[in-house]
Amino acid sequence: MTLLGLILLLMTFWGLAYGSARAIVWIITPPVLLIALNLAGLVTPVGSLLVALPYAVALFFYLMPEQRRQWISKPLLATFRSVMPAMSQTEKEALNAGNVWWDGALFSGQPNWQDLLHQPACQLSEREQAFIDGPVDELCRMLDDWQITHEDKDLSPRIWEFIKTSGMFGMIIPESYGGLGFSAYAHSQVVMKVASRSITAAVTIMVPNSLGPAKLLLQYGTQEQKDRYLQKLAIGEEIPCFALTSPKAGSDAGAIPDSGVVTYGNFQGKEVLGIRLNFEKRYITLAPIATLIGLAFKLEDPERLLSDDPLPGITVALVPRETAGIKVGKRHMPLDIPFQNGPIYGRDVFIPIDWVMGGAEGAGQGWRMLMDSLSEGRGISLPALSTGAGKTASRYTGAYAAVRSQFNQPIGHFEGVEEALARIGGLTYQMDAARKLTLSALDSGETPSVISAIVKYHLTERYRQVINDAMDIQGGSGICLGPDNLFGRAYQAIPIGITVEGANILTRSMIIFGQGAIRAHPFVLKEFEAAENPDQQAGLIQFDSALFGHIGFVVTNFARTLWLGLTHGRLSESPKGGPMRRYFQRLNWMSASFALTTDLALMTLGGSLKRKERLSARLGDILSNLYISSACLKRFVEEGEKPEDVPLMQWALDDSLYRMQHALRGLLRNMPVRPLAWVMRVLIFPTGLPFHKPTDRLDHQVARALLSPGEVRDRLTHGVFTDDDPQQRIGQLEQALHVVAKVIPLEKTLKRAKRAGQLHARELPELIKEAIKLGILSESDKSLLTEAERLRNQVIEVNAFERLMPSGSVSGKQQSKVSTINKLGAA
Ligand SMILES: Cc1cc2nc3c(=O)[nH]c(=O)nc-3n(C[C@H](O)[C@H](O)[C@H](O)COP(=O)(O)OP(=O)(O)OC[C@H]3O[C@@H](n4cnc5c(N)ncnc54)[C@H](O)[C@@H]3O)c2cc1C
Repeated sequence: MTLLGLILLLMTFWGLAYGSARAIVWIITPPVLLIALNLAGLVTPVGSLLVALPYAVALFFYLMPEQRRQWISKPLLATFRSVMPAMSQTEKEALNAGNVWWDGALFSGQPNWQDLLHQPACQLSEREQAFIDGPVDELCRMLDDWQITHEDKDLSPRIWEFIKTSGMFGMIIPESYGGLGFSAYAHSQVVMKVASRSITAAVTIMVPNSLGPAKLLLQYGTQEQKDRYLQKLAIGEEIPCFALTSPKAGSDAGAIPDSGVVTYGNFQGKEVLGIRLNFEKRYITLAPIATLIGLAFKLEDPERLLSDDPLPGITVALVPRETAGIKVGKRHMPLDIPFQNGPIYGRDVFIPIDWVMGGAEGAGQGWRMLMDSLSEGRGISLPALSTGAGKTASRYTGAYAAVRSQFNQPIGHFEGVEEALARIGGLTYQMDAARKLTLSALDSGETPSVISAIVKYHLTERYRQVINDAMDIQGGSGICLGPDNLFGRAYQAIPIGITVEGANILTRSMIIFGQGAIRAHPFVLKEFEAAENPDQQAGLIQFDSALFGHIGFVVTNFARTLWLGLTHGRLSESPKGGPMRRYFQRLNWMSASFALTTDLALMTLGGSLKRKERLSARLGDILSNLYISSACLKRFVEEGEKPEDVPLMQWALDDSLYRMQHALRGLLRNMPVRPLAWVMRVLIFPTGLPFHKPTDRLDHQVARALLSPGEVRDRLTHGVFTDDDPQQRIGQLEQALHVVAKVIPLEKTLKRAKRAGQLHARELPELIKEAIKLGILSESDKSLLTEAERLRNQVIEVNAFERLMPSGSVSGKQQSKVSTINKLGAA
């Protein structure tokens, strides 16, 4: 065969694979091409034979499905069964929770961007907007976080009452039951705004609206249970908590030792069928004040009173706190964030069977109920809280860095600080984009469990990064706690978000890719189902179809990765031009590379990938950053593709692409089958590693957006609580930022005049006097400069105390005599 003939042949097959050509095209093309090449004298008879032989074999197996199944699929099915990871019932139920959405598109290697862009944007109804502007703002104004966290270690009775009567405990409960019936987006906006004011209050509101009695009742409760509880939960007449975690079972919640035995017992003077419970729970939010406990336990039915199954398994029941045998009341102290949290114990607690969620039919269904609810809840509460922290840091640390000067310059102008500020802004842009995209899915009726795990993990991790950066920039003013410290409590609270609703290490290492690879991959679940089909023949037919679909999928992704790698994605489809075009194309490249890598990892590691948590974590990182970056592009489009937002969008995309590259590199360096890893490395990155962290120039542009008042800053931080009250630190910062922005030209004028030798004074008041005398400044300039100086001095003040005594003690009350360093100095 001539070189040209070979190239033409390879290019044709490559093109067919790239375009996922249909079977008929694959059948017709090779003979037509061979004839043409022969006629053109580009192929020898031996060359023709080398192509025709494999073609004939492939055609034979295509046309003879029975032979294909017996000779190819059957032995492969046996191998597949032997490497398939063993899965417990609880693992299967966790895997099957929720549904597949945009994660499926990312796994396909060819995401359809139009689908993403057509996803409706999040929107508040008029009623929801009015609630956020009304009662939520009112609550925010009432919240004095220092009083809550340091003095009272609780919300005040007035705040508790306000939260209950305004309906904030019933945001997910439909209006027909007296709740607010809010969308997931409105629910998230409420939590985000409250979190920007007080994390204690936000967590208190989050819990009754998240995984807990109301959520479970709505989905699984009997009508009688709904009628009994929903109305009371909506108005806070019943305070719920949800008790799953026990001392022996935290992350491995499926292993709870808490037991319930089906038996007859006395209930309100009558002998009824029920359950005798023994349990010990800890870390339960709202437990110390809860009146209704959603309790998870393992149900046993040794006498088979309910069904033939002696071990129905995890079950959830609604147990009033007053039930005999239950002990609650003590409190844990979660890192100085004093939301109500504590242990619950139960000894020989007898409950009637109709307290089981969903009645007797709900026996043994608890794990499935929990996993399904988690698929949704995990995408709302903690992402809202984390984004609230990001927006607060962007808004107020940005303002602080503009106002606070060192070495005669605002600290935000130093390149080192710019780097941290840019991270705060860029990560906040990512967080809000991912939060909103997930909420729009939830509000369209999707329950994407892999995506909710992605946003839970990545937004709480970004919250950690952003608050750490904010603390660095705030310096001592971030460290000294007091009413004027905006970040100390958010800093302390970081590990809470990291640990709850699936601790982060576990979520990254096991859940995101572990669940994604099976649920969201277009063929793996089908292969699993085929392998588990008790009907051998039906299973073989199913497996055969999935297997050959899977092979075609791998071939396509191989061809796409090779082409996209060589061209860096150029020429591939992009739904948008301008600054977004290259990013869409790079995501095409990364998505194909991710899909191919996933398959090669699954093929070479099989079931052992479950134990290879670090490889699984890196694959999860690629998937997660594909999700976050697609959310950022969608956000940029939704916000009208504003040129002034380009730096934020670019920062967010550059950062995500770099993270994907980092994860891929780590994965390929650690894949056990080394030659395969080398080939993959060349295939994905044939010209070296192309992605870099955002440039210093981009960091500078993003940082500048945070340092000055304006639309970009407002858009980035939209939805958090703002206040111009000059008694509040946030009001002072806001005012200082605006006034300082106005005096910048005046300060430049003074500096120029000083350099020119026109002005000689050292202190500002004298300088101003001299400048006015010389006509360099006017009287109104003077008042502006003086006001700026006053505001600057105000926002750099930190609190100081007469004594640091344990709160609550008699002398501790003196702590309320809080002052600021400056005021003390003046005194
Ligand atoms: C403030 C607070 C509020 C809470 N509220 C509630 C509530 O209302 N109701 C409720 O039922 N529970 C609640 N919890 C419990 C929470 O869900 C658990 O703390 C969480 O599941 C982790 O369990 P653990 O603390 O026992 O940690 P462990 O399970 O002991 O985990 C310790 C570490 O090991 C890691 N790890 C464990 N297994 C693996 C693995 N296979 N692979 C990789 N890493 C792994 C974890 O990621 C974690 O980093 C709350 C906890 C806290 C701290």
